[in-house]
Amino acid sequence: MEEIKTQAIVLSATEYKESGKYLTLFSLENGIVKAKIQGVVKPKAKLAFASLPFCFGEYVIVSKTGNTVINCSAIDSFYDITKDFDRFVAGESLLEVVSIIGRENEPNPELFIMLLKALKMLAYSKSAPLAVLIKFLIFALGNAGYGLKLEGCVKCGNKKPAKEFFSFDLGARVCSTCSDESSVGLSAGEVAVLRNIDQTDIENLENLKFSSFENVVGVVKLLTKYFFHKTGEVVGAVDSYV
Ligand SMILES: [Zn+2]
Repeated sequence: MEEIKTQAIVLSATEYKESGKYLTLFSLENGIVKAKIQGVVKPKAKLAFASLPFCFGEYVIVSKTGNTVINCSAIDSFYDITKDFDRFVAGESLLEVVSIIGRENEPNPELFIMLLKALKMLAYSKSAPLAVLIKFLIFALGNAGYGLKLEGCVKCGNKKPAKEFFSFDLGARVCSTCSDESSVGLSAGEVAVLRNIDQTDIENLENLKFSSFENVVGVVKLLTKYFFHKTGEVVGAVDSYV
């Protein structure tokens, strides 16, 4: 019987037998970890907090036949994210993205740290939730090996093409001459949103002003579509929202 102690964030929780839950955790030291947690549905259950999505804590997990969480010290519940619908949708999307690109027993500390930063921004800053989601998606895509190329047309180098396109095959901005079958048109406003968010640290996103929210939504749609193009997975929370 092995016991591990690890900082982890709850990505999802499903019912398990009568009073337990089956958790998908993202841990700093072990990447994705699936584990049961017993007795958390009962009223006044001591570890109920540890079974809620967004919970960040130090988890103690034993592995015998499967993993079981036996203890947890809370670090932050990020409860504020669940109090606002827009923040919640963006937050759920972050958790979904990590559960898709994270790997079991493969630590991914860069992704872990970025997820923590993004959750903090959603819970405690005035940043637009979709801007935090865009920043996180750009990072996560790069982390998964699908980084975006946004410095002008990736093929001919044209910095200001008259018409902007995004090639899903190349993960890049392209001009009309260089666009391929996988390309879709982008508005100048969408290009500006993409580049501004890409070039701004996540801690400073709250200083960005968006002249049209439509462009922000357009970029979220573009990135989730590109995410699907590369991973074959839909980010369900935001897909039904934008
Ligand atoms: Zn070109």
